[in-house]
Amino acid sequence: MSITGGLPKAVDRAVERGCEAMQVFVSNPRGWKHSDILPSDIAAFRARCEEEGINPVFVHTIYLINLAAPSPEIRERSTDALVMNMRAAAALGSSAVVTHVGSHGGEGEDIGIARVVASLQAAFARCEGPVPILLETTAGSGNSVGHGFSQLGRIVKAFAGDVRLGLCLDTCHAFAAGYELRTEQGLRETLEELEREVGLERLKLIHANDSKGDLGSRLDRHEHIGEGKLGKGAFALMAGHPALGDLPWILETPGRSADMDRENLRRLRSFVP
Ligand SMILES: [Zn+2]
Repeated sequence: MSITGGLPKAVDRAVERGCEAMQVFVSNPRGWKHSDILPSDIAAFRARCEEEGINPVFVHTIYLINLAAPSPEIRERSTDALVMNMRAAAALGSSAVVTHVGSHGGEGEDIGIARVVASLQAAFARCEGPVPILLETTAGSGNSVGHGFSQLGRIVKAFAGDVRLGLCLDTCHAFAAGYELRTEQGLRETLEELEREVGLERLKLIHANDSKGDLGSRLDRHEHIGEGKLGKGAFALMAGHPALGDLPWILETPGRSADMDRENLRRLRSFVP
């Protein structure tokens, strides 16, 4: 949800659309710059969420974050941004910070994963609050290190026992990365791999987006529910699955139209058994 006009405005927009859960950026997602959130905005945001029953709330990090970057300077800026988001999330009463992992820039998966682990360790060391970080599955373009469950599993295993690290499954990204979600068998195999590599108990959030790109296309292009290559059947399967149906689902579908947001929500809710 957009926070244009201040964080409390995001709650108004969520209410207008009939949301029960919400995700916000706390700074411009396409830039590094951020300023402190006004204490009055924090208080108003929390009060409005409570009043309207919007819960859980997720904070999404900026798109520029790269915890695996070859450049130490970019890794440091990324860790700073992550820590800022963790503090903001704690202040806002948010359930978790959602972040993309990043790209190894051609230096290889092993080095990339080791850098992500070091960056996350640094972030946890600087922010000891209870707010978890959810690593989001990516579509797998370029040298991304977050598209395969085995890659994410290697990162999560480095934090064995630390419940503050979890997973966010983006349906568009997972499908574009090659995970079949349109058939019962495909969904079963996908979740078996997730269980084996990461552990289903680490999965805390679904980003529900249809996909413009086909299975394995590695294309990160979101589409309205039922209008992309995943189609309504995939969302009906996922909504009816016990491992997924009870999780919070967040829409990241294109555009800023309240009518279309309401329509996407209506479609998703129609699949809930
Ligand atoms: Zn997403």
